[in-house]
Order: sequence, then structure tokens, then C-alpha cells
Amino acid sequence: MKAMRLESVGNLFVRDVEKPRPGPDDLLVRVEACGVCGTDRHLLLGEFPSKPPVTIGHEFAGIIEAIGTDVTGFKIGDRVTGDPNISCGRCPQCMAGRVNLCRNLQAIGIHRDGGFAEYVIVPQKQAFSIPLDLDPMHGAFCEPLACCLHGVDMAEIRTGSSVVVLGGGVIGLLVVQLARLAGATTVILSTRQESKRRLAEELGATASVDPSSSDIIEAITGPNGLVPRGVDVVIECAGVAETVEQTTRLAKAGGTVVILGVMPQGAKVQIEPFDILFRELRVLGSFINPFVHRRAADLVASGAINVEKLISRRVSLNEAPEVVRNPARAGEVKVLVVP
Ligand code: NAP
Ligand code: ZN
Repeated sequence: MKAMRLESVGNLFVRDVEKPRPGPDDLLVRVEACGVCGTDRHLLLGEFPSKPPVTIGHEFAGIIEAIGTDVTGFKIGDRVTGDPNISCGRCPQCMAGRVNLCRNLQAIGIHRDGGFAEYVIVPQKQAFSIPLDLDPMHGAFCEPLACCLHGVDMAEIRTGSSVVVLGGGVIGLLVVQLARLAGATTVILSTRQESKRRLAEELGATASVDPSSSDIIEAITGPNGLVPRGVDVVIECAGVAETVEQTTRLAKAGGTVVILGVMPQGAKVQIEPFDILFRELRVLGSFINPFVHRRAADLVASGAINVEKLISRRVSLNEAPEVVRNPARAGEVKVLVVP
């Protein structure tokens, strides 16, 4: 079968490899779609540790073609999405229920072969069924949506809450939708590209602002701003210093900041601890997707989250290395690889 292999840092190729065989607890899944994520590029550049040679791709969905002898609850022909993050279940963090902080975390598409291939092996405990009448492309959004869901859960948005989302990539555009579903009545997206601001408003944002043409702190929290004195919740989804620095200034007294965006290890930002203290801000990090994949899959299946509008392009496996190698094109939100 064909697979996109990270041979070593900097070297990504589509190759013929042996079709994998499921172990007793595994499903063999014929991949229908696998989303390209910023992390794939970080793996290629060596900015995020992986275990090459490995087939990358961690946002996949597909049809079960074979099952191991000990598999229960799935059958050949079912459609599934995979939670790529495999925790050990035995370390102190796992024992405390923080499986996303597992000391021995292994991820499909990072440490073991992933979804940019014709077939992927998914341990049964990592698989979640999704309907056969769902557009197969939509299944690839369950994984990124699960990460957003964890962040939105941490934010504790309530009916009537006001929320600012910083960064209008796929994560920001999913968070905008989840914030509305969670009950927020004011959801403001800040992102530089006009097409993404327009899309956010189509998807439920009540307003959008352009950080490159205005002072968004004044435009949002100023006396004549959209939410004078600040919002209940700020969710950072860009992973750049500028937006991280804006978070504590946008939140109102007693408000919550959730950091979803990933900044390079070692990067520093300037924030005023006085803001955090004097206005009693809750500042939280949200890492991957503990115990939320089932809910994310159900949200995608129900159509409650519009993922169709986030698909910018579908490409073949042969075209995929070029997509991973290059930064996203202007206006592009999510590229799906269809093996
Ligand atoms: P992305 O496509 O790169 O989106 C980030 C967006 O931020 C860009 O599209 C850009 O849009 C916007 N942006 C850049 N600079 C900005 C600024 N100064 N002000 C406002 N917006 C700005 O990435 P993504 O896939 O949506 O992911 C977003 C972040 O979440 C990444 O850092 C990713 O690594 C992280 N992530 C975290 C988790 C987790 O578990 N916590 C899971 C998945 C992804 P414009 O050009 O329109 O400004
Ligand atoms: Zn563990």
C-alpha cells in the first residue's frame, strides 16, 4: 500500500510499504480521509519530537476492513474515527485521570504509523464509530474538534457568556462554533484574513475584528467597545506571542483565559502578572483531548458543527508531501488527504 513516510527530520516521501496486519486488539481501517495539521509540519521540521521512520497523519477516519481476534463492539464495514493519543493507564498521571498528561503517551501518526496511508492500524480502545451515512470527509474533523472541546470545557462557558477567540484557523473556527453551542451569546473572533472573519460570522461569531488594522483591546474592551471592561472567556487559538499577550488584557475581572495555541518551546511572551492577580484571572492551558473523542464524534455526526465549510482542498497521497512541506495558502483552512 502507499503511505506518506517521515523517513527522518526533513525527509517526507510517499512510498510503497507492506499493508499492516491487525493484532488481536486492533482494527485495520481503510482510510477515507486524513486532515493535514500544523503539527505534521512541526514533525517534518523537527520542531516536535516524533519517531521516524513513521507514517504521519493523526486526523483520520475510515472503514474497518479487518478486525483482530479479541475485538468486540466493532465489525467489518463499520466507519470509525481514531483518537490518536494512547495513554499507558499505569503512570501517576493516568492513575489520577489526567490521561492527556500521561508520561508514556504514544500517538498514532507521531510515534506509530498513522493515517496518511491507504490503511491504518487502530487499537480498539482508540476507535469510535461514526455513521455510515456521514460524509466520510467529515470524520477527519473529530480529532481537532476533540482538542477544541477540551479547551471549551475548561473555559466553563455559561449561557449568556461573552467570548473572544484569537486566531481564525481551523481550531479557532471550531472553537467559535463550540462557544455558541455552549451558550455564549457574544463570540468575537480576531484574525487578520478577511475571508476567515467572514466565515466565522457565517458559522456563528457575533462579530469579528482585524488585529492588523485596529487596536483590538480598545475595539473590544474600551468604553465604546464591543464588550466594555472585557469578556468572560478568552480562548487563544493562534499560538503567536501577540495573541497570547492580548489574552489577559481582554478578559474581564474574574474572567478565564484558555491557551490552546502552541508556541515553540522556549518562546517567551510579556504579560502583566498584576492583571492576573488584581483581576483574579484564571489562566489555563488545554492540551489535546482527554475523554472527549466520543462527544466530538457525536457532534460531527449530528451536524451541530459545520465542518464542510472548513474544507479548503482535497488532495491525493502523492500530492500530500507538498502540502505538509509548505505553509498554508492564504484563505486555506483545512486540507484533507484522500488516499
Ligand atoms: P492555523 O491554521 O495556523 O491557525 C492559526 C491562525 O491564527 C492563522 O490562521 C492566522 O489567521 C491566525 N493568526 C496568526 N497571527 C495572528 C494574530 N496576530 N492575531 C490574530 N490571529 C492571528 O492553526 P490551527 O490548526 O487553527 O491551530 C491553531 C493553534 O492551535 C496552533 O498553534 C496549533 O498548534 C494549536 N493546536 C493545539 C491543540 C491543543 O491540543 N491544544 C490541538 C490542535 C492544534 P490570519 O492569517 O487570518 O490571522
Ligand atoms: Zn500514563
